Amino acid sequence: MGSHSDDSSASFVKNPTIKFTKLFINGEFVDSVSGKTFETIDPRTGKVTARIAEGDKEDVELAVKAARQAFDHGPWPRLPGSERGRIMMKFADLLEENAEELAALDTIDCGKLFSVGKAMDIPYAANALRYYAGAADKVHGDVLKMSRELHGYTLLEPIGVVGHIIPWNNPIFVFFMKVSPTLAAGCTMVVKPAEQTPLSALYHAHLAKLAGIPDGVLNVITGFGPTAGAAISSHMDIDAVSFTGSTEIGRKVMQAAAESNLKVVSLELGGKSPLIIFDDADVDMAAQLAIFGIMFNKGEACVASSRVYVQEGIYDEFVKKLVEKARAWIVGDPFDPKAQQGPQVDLKQFEKILSYIEHGKREGATLLTGGKPVADQKGYYIEPTIFADVKEEMLIAKDEIFGPVMALAQFKTIEEAIKRANSTRYGLAAGIVTKDLNVANTVSRSVRAGTIWISCYFALDNDCPFGGYKMSGFGKDFGLEALHKYLQVKSVVTPLYNTPW
Ligand code: NAD
Repeated sequence: MGSHSDDSSASFVKNPTIKFTKLFINGEFVDSVSGKTFETIDPRTGKVTARIAEGDKEDVELAVKAARQAFDHGPWPRLPGSERGRIMMKFADLLEENAEELAALDTIDCGKLFSVGKAMDIPYAANALRYYAGAADKVHGDVLKMSRELHGYTLLEPIGVVGHIIPWNNPIFVFFMKVSPTLAAGCTMVVKPAEQTPLSALYHAHLAKLAGIPDGVLNVITGFGPTAGAAISSHMDIDAVSFTGSTEIGRKVMQAAAESNLKVVSLELGGKSPLIIFDDADVDMAAQLAIFGIMFNKGEACVASSRVYVQEGIYDEFVKKLVEKARAWIVGDPFDPKAQQGPQVDLKQFEKILSYIEHGKREGATLLTGGKPVADQKGYYIEPTIFADVKEEMLIAKDEIFGPVMALAQFKTIEEAIKRANSTRYGLAAGIVTKDLNVANTVSRSVRAGTIWISCYFALDNDCPFGGYKMSGFGKDFGLEALHKYLQVKSVVTPLYNTPW
């Protein structure tokens, strides 16, 4: 058991005891087979928070065996949907009862704002459990209209053992985005959180057990991608893998699935999402949305509006407001309720973002504000950074930086805006700010992205399917679409009128 220490505060919230540091297999917390552990770091200080069991291939093997046993012989897939739903509701209540402690774990693991974790991530996660709990007893197939001699119907069956591979930027949110529909479908699973953020996932495993989820249904293997992650994507006895992370690793997961047992793959990958602001926009509101769209969660958001296109008529006024707002944006300790931006997740990410900022300067983009680490801060804090005059061929317009760095450009016509918005290999989301319904609808249909937000941003909802176009991946999270990722369709056919066969 480790403990994080922060002398500046006596509150348990700022100084949570880390209760769970071992792998969770078959309902028990266990050491890794190798006995190895790894460090998790507090991004506010760069100091070690705890040592966590390092799972590898052998541990994934044990977790898959437990999940397979629970699927083939355990009660979970066989329970009435309403009973699975009841247990999931209990799980949701437990999440909310432990909201402060859980939010604090993410704050010390990835620098997420405590206020946001408590007020958004936990309620969203609990509501994801409740949304899919409500769907668990409404999963059914169809009666088919076949030719006259045949009677046919479909059954929706749980797909089996699922592997979930999770990134570090939204540990709680993404965990429940994936686990909730998988539970409702009656599947069992092995979850691998990112190595940067293992703490909250282990706590969820503890709560799952308290809620009454049977042993073996939800297993958590902490560890690294090339070892534990690759053991999941290449496993012969995992039926589906759901991956959220970078496009580069998504490709590896798909290759491993193809080269092993052709498991079903869904990929939620990176993005370089455009926000298009037209001349008729309320300039103050649009500038606020643009700042929020890129700086929220310190830019470590797959849907971040990292490219902003503004129509020429309001451009100068927009830039003035944008820079004022960026300079007023408060970067600081993520436990401070006034802070709007905490530290980047780790040193690697911090250095990667700074190197993109240097690229932007060298490529000839105009640095309007920011562009360096925050002075007087020990941790991985970066100033909100805005580049103007960005051209599509620049690296800062093409690559997902995953930090508080905006690429801003001007446009003249709607056709130009659409063309520039689509000039990316990604297609996760896009935002449009206009009062003109025709413009909003035309752009919505023309931009190739999985989610379009009109006069809002980050408006995610359990009932709203979410996922990418192009190299942002395929397969949806959220909505009933996500439930169907973890179900498969079986057709049952029988002859009518004693037709001889
Ligand atoms: P990453 O791809 O480096 O890692 C994601 C997960 O994959 C981690 O758990 C990691 O351990 C694991 N992994 C690494 N190598 C692996 C391998 N060879 N085989 C199997 N698993 C492996 O991504 P990250 O840096 O943790 O997260 C940032 C990325 O995630 C960004 O690109 C971001 O856009 C994306 N993201 C996408 C969404 C979405 O819904 N589309 C949501 C959040 C984050």
